[in-house]
Amino acid sequence: MQQQLQNRVNQLLKSQIQEWELAAKNYLGLSGALKKHFLLGGDVGVDVQYNPERIYSSSAKVDTKSITERKCFLCPAHLPSQQKSVGLGKDYLILVNPFPIFPRHLTIPHRNHQPQLILGNFGTMLNLARELDEFEIFYNGPRCGASAPDHFHFQAGNKGFMPILEDFLTVHRTVIKGNKDARAMYFDKYIRKCIILQSNEKQILTHWFDQLYQIMAQMTGHEPEPMMNILASWDKGQWLVFIFPRMLHRPWQYFDETQQKILLSPASVDLGGVLITPREEDFKKITPSDIIDIFGQVTWNDSNFEKLIELFSKT
Ligand SMILES: [Zn+2]
Repeated sequence: MQQQLQNRVNQLLKSQIQEWELAAKNYLGLSGALKKHFLLGGDVGVDVQYNPERIYSSSAKVDTKSITERKCFLCPAHLPSQQKSVGLGKDYLILVNPFPIFPRHLTIPHRNHQPQLILGNFGTMLNLARELDEFEIFYNGPRCGASAPDHFHFQAGNKGFMPILEDFLTVHRTVIKGNKDARAMYFDKYIRKCIILQSNEKQILTHWFDQLYQIMAQMTGHEPEPMMNILASWDKGQWLVFIFPRMLHRPWQYFDETQQKILLSPASVDLGGVLITPREEDFKKITPSDIIDIFGQVTWNDSNFEKLIELFSKT
């Protein structure tokens, strides 16, 4: 089954990039996209990608009024006629994202129009990561980069693209709790603070995720869910999950109207280490200190993160 789904998805990518004009143009454009690499200190590096086609996603209006007034682009009835899909069980469709960041980029919407909320859906995310083991699955919360906060969806991008998996091998980590079957950890020195979970036991991961969710909800009180981005993948017989608690949707630079403006709306991929700048001027001028500043604004500060670890370690 696992191989079957991965193969069907690979076939879908191949045929859509060949046959769908919009996808063909944007995947070809992506292969020539300008990219820069920065070291943020220690062994931690990030890439910046100039990607003009992402302007619609980065600058998406996600307030309730704008959302209710537009036609939902993830509802099956509104998909472009050229868009083909692979069904995943009775609930999900796997689609090729026609505005890619990754050389292989998928959108995985629920078949029904229902809100973007992770509680109760984390297990599905793990199942997906296991079945599509050439990909990293990611989730953007409704106020953390999802451009369709009204329609539940995951995305997926091919492994080896976001630097965070490499960071996992090179950056020193501290274990919060665990045993031989499962570990919860964090990077000792990492500007974008995240909790890392690793195990082949789905039940433990789901239980830990629920605990983290509750603590984050208590600490921040955010509605409709504590703000977060999640990355999940399956590698060498284990799941590896990164959970980024969020403080802010968009940094001040996003809204600035002076020369300091940087149109960057951070979501999972940015936190995974590939920052997307849809405007060329931002791509040219952005510096490592801008990136450190932006990560600092949108993710948790030291004291909140330490409190989260303390509460989580006692559960
Ligand atoms: Zn919809």
